[in-house]
Amino acid sequence: MSIIIKSDREIAAMREAGRAVALVLRILAGELKAGMKTRELDAIAARELERLGAKPSFKGYRGFPANLCVSVNDEIVHGIPGERVLAEGDIVSLDLGAIVDGFQGDAALTVGIGEISPEAERLLETTRAALQAGVDMAYAGARLGDISAAIQQYAESRGYGVIREYTGHGIGREMHEEPQIPNFGQPGTGPLLKRGMTLALEPMVSIGDWRTRLDGNRWTVLTADGSLSAHFEDTVAITDDGAEILTVV
Ligand code: MG
Repeated sequence: MSIIIKSDREIAAMREAGRAVALVLRILAGELKAGMKTRELDAIAARELERLGAKPSFKGYRGFPANLCVSVNDEIVHGIPGERVLAEGDIVSLDLGAIVDGFQGDAALTVGIGEISPEAERLLETTRAALQAGVDMAYAGARLGDISAAIQQYAESRGYGVIREYTGHGIGREMHEEPQIPNFGQPGTGPLLKRGMTLALEPMVSIGDWRTRLDGNRWTVLTADGSLSAHFEDTVAITDDGAEILTVV
């Protein structure tokens, strides 16, 4: 297995998939409110993807039953939308993948419902900035470990744990391509980054420890210590001038 280099035309197709993901996530973030059931978010995601002519990447992936992952509070990733009712003060991670013309886009963000605690606010800010620290290192000539190390150093410098058992990934025609992109690592190590590589960077950060546990539904990943967790993700392409974020409106 090796890292697949995309042509300009393939990256243009990924831009369309990325735009669909970003648009739907923006709509979902705007609709989030206390009293809503998480399955209502999934229904909105399905409707909006269809309207845009995009297919959901996650539905049916290894049997995942929904279009969208919704992970609340101590849930880190892969939460299954259902009957859970969202409450004021919750933090909600929304992760969405879409396919347009055979190419994938994948992005996530964590949003607070109403007024959230200062601790939760700082976690969200830190995770968003950790993603940015990774994006800043995603340029031709850098190494994969530079991205991993930048994310880890940023999150840990603010006193948080980065989740280790789940990683970012290459992306293209497949949602998960080479390489795996851990959110921790050593600068100057790993594969050399080249123009045309397309990567999904996705720090998952917790207020407490990085250890996780799996829910009885075999999908939802939670922090082992019950601490709050946040998740931000973008799909990027390595260009001659750094990273282009593909999951933007
Ligand atoms: Mg991903």
